[in-house]
Amino acid sequence: MLLPTASPYVVVGAGIHGLSTAYHLAGELKARGLGSGADIVVLEKARPGAGASGIACGVVRNNYFQPAMSELMQACVQVWESDAAVYHYNPVGYMALGPTVQEQDLIEIHERHERIGYRSTLVIGEGDVDAYMKNLFPDWRAQGVTACLHEHQGGFAFNQESVDGLLGKAEGVGVQVLTGVTVTGFDFASDDSVRSVATDQGRIEVGEQVVVAPGPWAKEFWQALGLPERIDVRTPGGELVRDRPMWTYWNLQEGEIAVDPTLFATRDGGPPPVIHLDTDAPLVTDDGSLITDELWGIYFKRDRHGVQGGASPLVVDGEVELDPYPSTTNVDPGFADMWCAALSHALGRFEGCRPTYRNARSGGVGAFTADNFPVFDHVRPNVYAVLDSNHGYKMIGVGREVAKVLVGEHSSLLYPFRFERFASGDLHPVSHSPYPWS
Ligand SMILES: Cc1cc2nc3c(=O)[nH]c(=O)nc-3n(C[C@H](O)[C@H](O)[C@H](O)COP(=O)(O)OP(=O)(O)OC[C@H]3O[C@@H](n4cnc5c(N)ncnc54)[C@H](O)[C@@H]3O)c2cc1C
Repeated sequence: MLLPTASPYVVVGAGIHGLSTAYHLAGELKARGLGSGADIVVLEKARPGAGASGIACGVVRNNYFQPAMSELMQACVQVWESDAAVYHYNPVGYMALGPTVQEQDLIEIHERHERIGYRSTLVIGEGDVDAYMKNLFPDWRAQGVTACLHEHQGGFAFNQESVDGLLGKAEGVGVQVLTGVTVTGFDFASDDSVRSVATDQGRIEVGEQVVVAPGPWAKEFWQALGLPERIDVRTPGGELVRDRPMWTYWNLQEGEIAVDPTLFATRDGGPPPVIHLDTDAPLVTDDGSLITDELWGIYFKRDRHGVQGGASPLVVDGEVELDPYPSTTNVDPGFADMWCAALSHALGRFEGCRPTYRNARSGGVGAFTADNFPVFDHVRPNVYAVLDSNHGYKMIGVGREVAKVLVGEHSSLLYPFRFERFASGDLHPVSHSPYPWS
């Protein structure tokens, strides 16, 4: 397909956010008599799902300590539930299990779930958690777990299939998705708005707005838009922390074991919820070697060909080479031992699973903001940035909110993620989780 010379709306990136924005924007334009999907072009340098969305573990959950994240996630889960078949969404639920240090966080999250009408069950106390888990999985044997938050909504979706589902929806309403087109820069007008988007195949003049949804390539676009690489961050207490890097990279470690997926089932043979387990109980391999006696955590889900999941991500020192994505992944050599030992620690059925671990196309690099939360905001008068700080495969509903903003509405769900929060100190509260995305 030929690159148009002009388009009212130009979306960069055909991942979960770019496609969701384009699809929902088409609906907003039509509903208001302002246009249709034909007014939107999506530019993608590789193919839809080539970025983080196509590699994500696919977990959809609302285990967020931050009120704004929790409220936004509720809206996102509604989008997943709205068309589970096309989004390849499996509403199996999600369980967060943690040690004493996380109890209060989980209690607060549960209270908020109750307030916003998100269905979950909270269990507190080591004995009660153990009984609750054994009722679901008779061979549950994790130690040191005193709190369990069982979300009855949420679950997971199949990554590439859900991107393909969104692509079909967007194209179905007339959006043009152009693949193999690399955006190389922007031409600015005197008021700082973007006049045209430069690509390796020519320029596109922008009629109305540009949306950038570049996933891990966030820093590249941040620079191209002339935004500051380092920023001062005001803490909620009023202190000014100077000269923080706006973007850092973390390496997400994920893997899988090639077992019959039905090995991982609930007591009654049903599909299991996604499990996230954090504990400070000693972690030892099946043959008795100590891996750690400090806080550790894993998550895992039933996948098509086995069980897939991950552990805490690793900070990447300095810059990363993102292309080709995600072949640059640099997983800790001890990851497979740790993850398999942890599976076995959780459920007796996984004892001896280490030989079934396989190196699959799992794991990858994510770009994180200065406070590890998304920036969803206009960063130039006509440029909206969807930079999710690697939270966001699950955030399929962000595009629906962005679409409203693009046609002039205020989104109270996106407002807490504005860039200005770093200067004003209106930051999100921090939980006791060791993960940068909880
Ligand atoms: C290993 C891993 C596991 C994850 N697991 C989960 C999970 O279980 N649940 C969850 O909610 N989140 C998860 N995430 C985070 C989630 O995947 C991302 O936050 C989300 O997919 C980002 O979506 P996106 O649309 O912004 O970016 P992407 O999906 O990365 O899409 C960006 C697109 O932009 C294109 N692009 C980049 N530069 C250019 C350019 N110059 N010109 C044109 N196109 C360009 C890329 O090719 C890419 O297709 C995970 C992330 C990783 C890395």
